[in-house]
Amino acid sequence: MNKVYDIIIIGAGLGGLTAGAFLSKAGKKVLVIEKNNIIGGRCSSRAWDGFSFDVGADYFAKGMLKTFARLDKDVALRPIGFSVKSFNKGKVMTIPPGLHLIRELSEFGMSKKEIAKFGIRMMKEIVFKGYSKRYKTNDRVIDAVADNDILRNILNIGAFFSGSLPYKMPSYWFNLLFGRTYGYDFPFYPMGGAQRIPDLLSEVIKENGGEVRTNISVERIHIERNKAAGVKTSDGEIEADVVISNSGIQDTVFNLTKGKGLSIEFKDRVKRYKPGLLMNSIFTAFKMDAGIINGAHLYCYFPDDVKKMFSALHNGEFPDDYIFTVSVPDAVTGKRTDGCYTGTIKFIAPRGENNKEIILKEGDKVIEMADRIIPNFKKSLVWKKIVTSEDYENEIGFESCIAPVAESIEYKKTGHRMPIRGLYCVGATVLPNGGCTASSVESGRRCAEEIISSE
Ligand SMILES: Cc1cc2nc3c(=O)[nH]c(=O)nc-3n(C[C@H](O)[C@H](O)[C@H](O)COP(=O)(O)OP(=O)(O)OC[C@H]3O[C@@H](n4cnc5c(N)ncnc54)[C@H](O)[C@@H]3O)c2cc1C
Repeated sequence: MNKVYDIIIIGAGLGGLTAGAFLSKAGKKVLVIEKNNIIGGRCSSRAWDGFSFDVGADYFAKGMLKTFARLDKDVALRPIGFSVKSFNKGKVMTIPPGLHLIRELSEFGMSKKEIAKFGIRMMKEIVFKGYSKRYKTNDRVIDAVADNDILRNILNIGAFFSGSLPYKMPSYWFNLLFGRTYGYDFPFYPMGGAQRIPDLLSEVIKENGGEVRTNISVERIHIERNKAAGVKTSDGEIEADVVISNSGIQDTVFNLTKGKGLSIEFKDRVKRYKPGLLMNSIFTAFKMDAGIINGAHLYCYFPDDVKKMFSALHNGEFPDDYIFTVSVPDAVTGKRTDGCYTGTIKFIAPRGENNKEIILKEGDKVIEMADRIIPNFKKSLVWKKIVTSEDYENEIGFESCIAPVAESIEYKKTGHRMPIRGLYCVGATVLPNGGCTASSVESGRRCAEEIISSE
């Protein structure tokens, strides 16, 4: 039987689609198979009652634009300037820093000298990556650059994204969030919403003769004589010499290949990975009289002890006070639906907690708390839908984990090349580090380049 496809890609997340885009542009016949009816995975949008929302990622790093340029695609975007309002002990910090930061930091109790010292240390870190080379964990870098308690607390926000405890987060996270690793210091929002990103990648695949099929699930990766040979799908068997999985390293190793051809050592390594915490979202529409700031996309609420809160969440307990974010991309794009802005509140579920009733109650509490960062928020609310982590799997079609492999000093992620010929894994669960949209895109690009150059 003639092989119709050179390469099969399991999953139309950003890693899979980016690999597919580069490979099809290089002349390979690519087939992407997606189990959901919408592509993009944890970077995609959904609509309810006429309101549309990003169900996963909603802010993007400028570094990703280089990849699109290589694919000859432009992304219409608005810079979002990382407009974070962090409320901690009633204090506000607005990012990106400008002259206002001096006033804000002095309200944290910092003298001009202390502010200057902090500025110099941050510059050293960001320009020379100084401290993160010297310290093993992210919280140690934070201790080294900031003396002020409120500031240290705020800088620990990375634990929200890395999926790991603050004192187990590797120090490279400091440069990832505050430095220039992928360009999260200059984030953007795509006009048309998060879905625009996977849609553009899919366009490249199709323009170059590839296919993206939805509503088909891959059930098995065939391995013959320690070599990838094709896949079994819900729609039949498909042969190919190269298989790229975007379904996550653990799913690839333990479900799709059933560990066939993989050493015990490799399987043990992958088994040790812990997932990050799961996210719940409250999708909302609210009247314009809520006190949002035009151009401010992301608001954060920080409890007074971020480290204690993350320990409680990782121990499976509800903390006394939450970290949560409210994203309002409409304030950046100027879009309105029925005279309303849409906004998404995200809050983390304690590890293992899947009692829907309890989570819904916590969601209502978080809505009350949102008034602390967006005045009048609750009063101006006209529509809401709480989607728990369980609903994410059942209704939206993916796990609401920001980091399906928590990035921790206790283990290192594997690269995209699997120890089986012709089998690769891309996306946030493999290297490069970061576990975000930018790292997934980068993993797809690197994987494609390796396949092309290995011929
Ligand atoms: C709530 C939330 C908020 C986030 N916010 C941000 C943010 O603001 N900025 C940021 O940079 N990152 C953010 N992230 C992280 C970011 O979304 C992810 O890191 C990135 O999108 C993951 O891409 P991926 O390549 O790993 O693929 P995934 O998104 O994991 O996609 C994998 C795809 O494979 C499909 N699939 C799986 N198994 C099969 C199978 N057997 N057969 C067929 N198809 C299959 C799935 O349906 C899915 O579409 C967020 C994540 C979440 C959950």
